[in-house]
Amino acid sequence: MDYEPYRRAVRKKVCEHCVDFSEEGRCALTGEYQCGVELYLEKIVDVVRSVHSPHVQDYVTRLRERVCAFCKNQNPDGACRLRSEADCGLDRYFALVVEAIEEADMK
Ligand code: SF4
Ligand code: SF4
Repeated sequence: MDYEPYRRAVRKKVCEHCVDFSEEGRCALTGEYQCGVELYLEKIVDVVRSVHSPHVQDYVTRLRERVCAFCKNQNPDGACRLRSEADCGLDRYFALVVEAIEEADMK
């Protein structure tokens, strides 16, 4: 599976409008602060393509099961400090990420 079209679509629809996108044209977050959008892009695409629903919550539920459950930032009790402080770009922009991936599929 070629994930590059999805990566490009997400960058254009989400990252280019994100507060953490740098003037050099890439995400400014690196190392331990690297965003889930970059870290988990392939899993995120698989999540979105496995759900067909008018309700974004259905996508969020599967994201929590397949991505957040394995993310080092989520505690065993399911809480995530980054998410609760709106510091996870993936969570913050997830509705737009879903749109970008579904639009890429329609092309
Ligand atoms: S923080 Fe996430 S959403 Fe924002 S530019 Fe970086 S990868 Fe994209
Ligand atoms: S919301 Fe938390 S657990 Fe989910 S990807 Fe973001 S940082 Fe990881």
